[in-house]
Amino acid sequence: MNRAEALKLVEKQLTKKRYEHTVRVMETALNLAEHYQVDRQKVELAAIFHDYAKYRHPEEMKRWIIKEKLPHDLLEYHQELWHGPVGSIMIDREVGISDPEIQSAIYWHTTGKRNMTLMEKIIFIADYVEPGRDFAGVEEVRGLVFDNIDRACWLAARNTIQFLMGKEQPIYPDTFQLYNEKIGRNM
Ligand code: GDP
Ligand code: FE
Ligand code: FE
Ligand code: FE
Repeated sequence: MNRAEALKLVEKQLTKKRYEHTVRVMETALNLAEHYQVDRQKVELAAIFHDYAKYRHPEEMKRWIIKEKLPHDLLEYHQELWHGPVGSIMIDREVGISDPEIQSAIYWHTTGKRNMTLMEKIIFIADYVEPGRDFAGVEEVRGLVFDNIDRACWLAARNTIQFLMGKEQPIYPDTFQLYNEKIGRNM
């Protein structure tokens, strides 16, 4: 599947704003793939489809989580976290993308996790730093992505944890594990 075909498929699934975000994630991720010498075709597809399930009805996502035996604890967390894991399965069933590296990058793009592959890190951090984002602290992370992607991912996790704690929202355990992993290595 080429870029134009992939973008056309995903455009139908998203709002105009979310589609434009997706194109910026793709451009950001491709720059990172080039820099870190990661398979550009896979990174491109993962970026294009990373938010594929974002606007599916929560009840539909819930059915996929149960039917596909995704971790049940997802249901105890905010439904905002479901579109990554569910999207990783949907692109196989609906679009025919069954590459495990692409699927895994989509699966983990919201929460992050410890021991991410370079491709997973690229999608996770491209989603966070794409030029349309204005999270508190995003400039610092943008300044780091090409020099130290591990620290960039760690900072993104730290900022998200701080943000969610400020709102007294639950935090998915894998986000904490990403945070703890870097602390242990003194980054
Ligand atoms: P988007 O789909 O492009 O808007 O971006 P994401 O997939 O990264 O994120 C959706 C939202 O999920 C983020 O804005 C986070 O604030 C939120 N979120 C809710 N719970 C968690 C959590 O436990 N960990 C993380 N990392 N994000 C969470
Ligand atoms: Fe997302
Ligand atoms: Fe994100
Ligand atoms: Fe996104």
